[in-house]
This record gives sequence, structure tokens and C-alpha cells, in this order.
Amino acid sequence: MESRIESIKEQLQSKGYKLTPQREATVRVLLENEEDHLSAEDVFMLVKEKAPDIGLATVYRTLELLSEISVVEKMNFGDGVARYDLRTDSSKHHHHHLICVQCGSMEEIKDDWLLSLEERLEKEFQFFVSDHRLDFQGICRHCRKNSDESVSH
Ligand SMILES: [Zn+2]
Ligand SMILES: [Zn+2]
Ligand SMILES: [Zn+2]
Repeated sequence: MESRIESIKEQLQSKGYKLTPQREATVRVLLENEEDHLSAEDVFMLVKEKAPDIGLATVYRTLELLSEISVVEKMNFGDGVARYDLRTDSSKHHHHHLICVQCGSMEEIKDDWLLSLEERLEKEFQFFVSDHRLDFQGICRHCRKNSDESVSH
């Protein structure tokens, strides 16, 4: 956690920004809830517990700044709400998502499954892939299990 905050601090500094206490509180909330793909309102509610004086506009500006410098990615998973997704340190490309259309759950694939495709694109099209988005829509294992059970009963 601390090392990731440190690396985000460096990313901010390299672009001429400071990690102010309010920005740090926002970053901590994002790190603590990494799997949850929070909306700006979600982040605000959680940051408020740490920094009661913070306003929604400040949180919103911080999220915009973090997305400008590619610390987070602003995502839309089809429900019309912008969500913020932390980029992982280990991979330079965006991770993949499995989105269940029945229960709305979301799972992440942290490995870059597109590496071999990227190599192929470079070879066959002389195209260098700097990033990509890959989200799968479908039915998650829990919903599949539940529907199996209701069929057999
Ligand atoms: Zn994600
Ligand atoms: Zn990739
Ligand atoms: Zn599901």
C-alpha cells in the first residue's frame, strides 16, 4: 500500500503536481477498494470518513487529475455511471474485465492476455500497441450455478 502511494506520488510529481492530504485520502480509498470500480460518489462517501471536510468537487477534481496522468482509468460499464479503475503497477496495459449481465458483478483478469496478439500486430501490421480495453459480458459462475440449481429442482 505505502509503496503504491509512493509511486503515485512520484507520478504526480513528475507532472508537476503535489500529493496533498486530500489527494492522498482519495488515493487511499481507491487503493483500499481496488476491486470495486467505485463511482465518484462512492469515492466521495468513503473519503469523507477519512477527511470530513472534503467536498465532492475536490474529490471529483482529484479523480479527473488522476485519470489525466493515467493513475486511474475512467470506465463506463454500460450502466451510465463513470467508474474509476486503478491501473496496476505490474502491467503497462489495462486489465480485462468479466462483467456479469445478470447480477452486475465484475471480475478482473490482471494478466495481460493479449501479449501474443500484440506481438502479431507488431509483426503483421507494424503496429505498436500502447494500450487496449477488453471487457467480456456474460453470465458469471454464481449466476450459472444458481440457474442450474433452479432447473434441476
Ligand atoms: Zn478493473
Ligand atoms: Zn497488452
Ligand atoms: Zn452474475
